Amino acid sequence: MTNYEAFRERIDAVWKEYSCPEELRPKLEWSMRLTRASGKFKCFLSRKECRIILNHKALMAYGAERMMSTLNHELAHAILWAKHGYMGHGIRFKVLCSKLGGTMNTQMAGLAYKECADTRYLPRKSWAIYKCPCGAVIKRGRFYSYQQENDLVCIKCDRPLTSCGKFRERG
Ligand SMILES: [Zn+2]
Ligand SMILES: [Zn+2]
Repeated sequence: MTNYEAFRERIDAVWKEYSCPEELRPKLEWSMRLTRASGKFKCFLSRKECRIILNHKALMAYGAERMMSTLNHELAHAILWAKHGYMGHGIRFKVLCSKLGGTMNTQMAGLAYKECADTRYLPRKSWAIYKCPCGAVIKRGRFYSYQQENDLVCIKCDRPLTSCGKFRERG
């Protein structure tokens, strides 16, 4: 049973701790539509409202603790935006994200913030799998149109991937 209230309380506590403008406190939303990202910070041009969106499927897969560190990542975005109008994943972001106990993907964390790195991300929805007669199996993150497929070549033997019949199957 997820304690959704704990997420709300975390936002309130951090917002108070960092003395952020009350009217800009992020609204929290659980989404069934986010795909791979476990969370998202969304702000509006008017600078009058912002929102933290958390991936409900990731919550089901990885549990509340994982999602709490995602919330901390998004909170770092929210604080920097609300106080300084800052967006992005620069050094300023990383310092605060790490301080709040937020996660970053391994590439973002690098060596300097490797204690923040988390590899638990939802798998891609579907893989296009191409099998070449040479034996190579090539996985792509999405399916291609027939036109686009004509430009694909095997990474091993350089043969066009569509020249030898049916390589494609759902993974
Ligand atoms: Zn981010
Ligand atoms: Zn090949």
